[in-house]
Amino acid sequence: MRHDLNLTTHRPTFVTHLECSLTGEHYPADKLHGLSAAGKPLLVRYDLDGARAALTKDVLAQRPMDLWRWRELLPVRNTSNIVSLGENATPLVALPRTAARLGGAHLIAKDEGRLPTASFKARGLVMAVSMAKELGVTQIAMPTNGNAGAALAAYAAVAGMEAIIFCPDDTPEINVREIAAQGARVYRVNGLIDDCGAIVGQGAKERGWFDFSTLKEPYRIEGKKTMGLELAEQLDWELPDAIFYPTGGGTGLIGMWKAFDELEQIGFIGSKRPKMFAVQAEGCAPMVRAFDAGVEFAERWEDAHTIAMGIRVPRAVGDFLILRAVRESGGAALAVSDAAIMAAVRDVARDDGLLLCPEGGATLAAYSRALDEGLIGREDRAVLFNCASGLKYPLEDHSRRLDRHMAIDFAAL
Ligand SMILES: *Cc1c(COP(=O)(O)O)cnc(C)c1O
Repeated sequence: MRHDLNLTTHRPTFVTHLECSLTGEHYPADKLHGLSAAGKPLLVRYDLDGARAALTKDVLAQRPMDLWRWRELLPVRNTSNIVSLGENATPLVALPRTAARLGGAHLIAKDEGRLPTASFKARGLVMAVSMAKELGVTQIAMPTNGNAGAALAAYAAVAGMEAIIFCPDDTPEINVREIAAQGARVYRVNGLIDDCGAIVGQGAKERGWFDFSTLKEPYRIEGKKTMGLELAEQLDWELPDAIFYPTGGGTGLIGMWKAFDELEQIGFIGSKRPKMFAVQAEGCAPMVRAFDAGVEFAERWEDAHTIAMGIRVPRAVGDFLILRAVRESGGAALAVSDAAIMAAVRDVARDDGLLLCPEGGATLAAYSRALDEGLIGREDRAVLFNCASGLKYPLEDHSRRLDRHMAIDFAAL
């Protein structure tokens, strides 16, 4: 559906077309799309020469520090379709004591827990819902491990759309309640996220729901891509040596890899790329298995289990894109244990004051391994992605009791 190009609301966008990520087949922009005919994710392509002429570093520097400062590299055409909740740029937090303890020198976390709905899913979903609104969608369905559903519920509320959400029945309680609180219908399903995805697929056929499963619509990648754009700018256009990304569907890893290419093509960065590390849990590591086997596609991981729910994804439709980016970058796919994840969360909070989510903890455990195995150097600058606020997860109780009616021995406190 084309919208009137009202001068007050039309923003310059440089989208030329969409492209199948496997076959390269072209699809028209400004139309509703799911997967390509080959059943693979569609990627948004831009007139990057046009974007290069329109966007300079000086222009960028004058804009508010939010996700929309990247408008020339984003797909929304009409500002009235933007369903914002305040997608602020997230800070880079130094972890000096953690780095020193592990024998590294330069370690920072990009703290994505500061975004609306307290996870980086906001980046993808604000874009996908804005585009769904632009293209006339009214009913959205999604399988989720929690945070994606929460972000969808919030933005669907802003857009005035109906959201129907299915999650595994052991999804963190706060997420399930958060989704419902934000006006969506949420069902706990006795299965994993891909079982929930099958229900969404069936409902899409029978009821015409628009399927918002990871990478099954083209725009979540564009939102998640802003992590890479933002990171480059925050590091003064010098990408780090290594990025550790907790990988479920891989949207963020694929998105950042795309962002770096686009930044190079508009002349903002050179050809240097970070080593990309796809981090998974030992109990659900389909990308690690495929990486180690040297194959292009990953098989479903049976009996997936880990405390890091956000990366409990047995099967990813963008598997080959994740593996390609990791290999081209000279990085690796690494699996870490739940015990290492929990220890990482505990240690960083105590040493450097940042409460990671379990998935963020996984990236630290992987950083430690990469150092020990020589996959990165001790002087390398590494960035971890803390993808959600640690406050969304159950915490251990280490409090002590005090009876105010008894004499208090202050020296002993
Ligand atoms: C969704 C999610 C991930 C995985 O992100 P992808 O880009 O889909 O791989 C990791 N951690 C948390 C907390 C998440 O919500």
